[in-house]
Amino acid sequence: MSNNDLTALVVDDSVVQANHAANLCRETGASVFSGHNGLEALEILRREQIDVALIDLEMPIMDGVELISQIASEKLVQHIIILSSKDASLISSVGTMAETEGLTVLSTIAKPISAEQIVYCFDSIRNVRSKSKPVEDHKESNYEPTFDEISKGIIEQHFFLNYQPKVTAKGLLFKGVEALARWDHPERGRVPPDTFIPAAEKYELIGTLTTTIFGQALSQKKEWRDRGLDLNLALNLSPLSLRNSDFADRLADFVQKRDVKTSELTLEVTENVLFGDLAKSLGILARLRLKGFNISIDDYGTGFSNAEQLSNIPATELKLDRSIISGISSRPKIRSIVENTLRIANDLKLKTVAEGVETKEDLSILLELGIDELQGYYFSRPLSSDLLLPWSEGELVRLREE
Ligand code: C2E
Ligand code: CA
Ligand code: CA
Repeated sequence: MSNNDLTALVVDDSVVQANHAANLCRETGASVFSGHNGLEALEILRREQIDVALIDLEMPIMDGVELISQIASEKLVQHIIILSSKDASLISSVGTMAETEGLTVLSTIAKPISAEQIVYCFDSIRNVRSKSKPVEDHKESNYEPTFDEISKGIIEQHFFLNYQPKVTAKGLLFKGVEALARWDHPERGRVPPDTFIPAAEKYELIGTLTTTIFGQALSQKKEWRDRGLDLNLALNLSPLSLRNSDFADRLADFVQKRDVKTSELTLEVTENVLFGDLAKSLGILARLRLKGFNISIDDYGTGFSNAEQLSNIPATELKLDRSIISGISSRPKIRSIVENTLRIANDLKLKTVAEGVETKEDLSILLELGIDELQGYYFSRPLSSDLLLPWSEGELVRLREE
């Protein structure tokens, strides 16, 4: 793999640190410029086409914070990596500042930087480049709903939700559900979310659809409460929602007006929030977290992120994708991946949830590995709202006795 398509600038007043970072960049094949203070850096940035700048925060003459503001106002480079020997919270608040000024912060790193971190950041630049055109999902049919069909479906209330139970590993207690969207299409019958969610995103109808879905879910949650079921409600969020700066405020408002506590809700976001406008999405997630929402990293295991990147997401939960859960009992390599993942999650104090638990064998491995919560066909398929209570009083009781 070669990175010679990338040009990097290292800015650090310590010659030793600057050389260290520059060498690591060069080892990946990138062309590298170095500056030892902010003024030198600006001069280089105005002259050269730079893809990514690695910036030390503590420098004489012009410190990193001032340099970053200047870079943003002159739009000199899009991607930055923030380096510092100061504490993590300072580094990340500078990251947030850079985000609000429109830069993409690939990483905030406590020095010394490692080769692995450089490779990761550089790969993600290339990843964003190759993803600027979204990849089509592999779907069973080629049917793609139109703008008019989806709008009509929203107005005529053909979208609704099924809820899949989540249970605790300890005692198989019924603690929550994940809301999964469904569409009863008047001509085509049931259309799966893998088909209509990408289309709704493409036509910019996802915001309206999400509002419709969330509204339904919140009123159903209140019905369960009235029937004695206190359930955490997990909702899937499109990464596109995390591009609106006022999303956190609007959602918190929406939830409060409906008399539901944010702490009883979990927002599931996939780890590809790590790509694209990382800093902006992280800022919005941080605000959601501050408002009390739980944040789950969904589909974990299908993408590419390491512990360091994970630790940047203000999450409360890690949800392991069914591709690494299903069949775990007969796949020793996958088992050790899951084992490592659970260790990382524990270090980061994240609750762990396994999705796609289909068999008793898989379940017993997961219990042995120390997972916190479980979801999958072994327990239940997604159900309509009024079947949750009967399920918990019937099937679930039977499962506990197995
Ligand atoms: P997801 O978030 O990964 O949801 C889990 C999917 O796995 C669901 O498919 C669920 O029915 C299925 N599943 C659960 N347990 C098992 C199991 O044991 N075995 C197998 N084979 N499958 C299992 P579903 O409902 O078709 O949803 C597909 C995807 O559509 C979801 O994947 C999610 O990414 C998206 N989605 C669904 N509802 C919404 C929504 O309201 N908003 C957004 N933005 N996306 C949604
Ligand atoms: Ca999900
Ligand atoms: Ca999944």
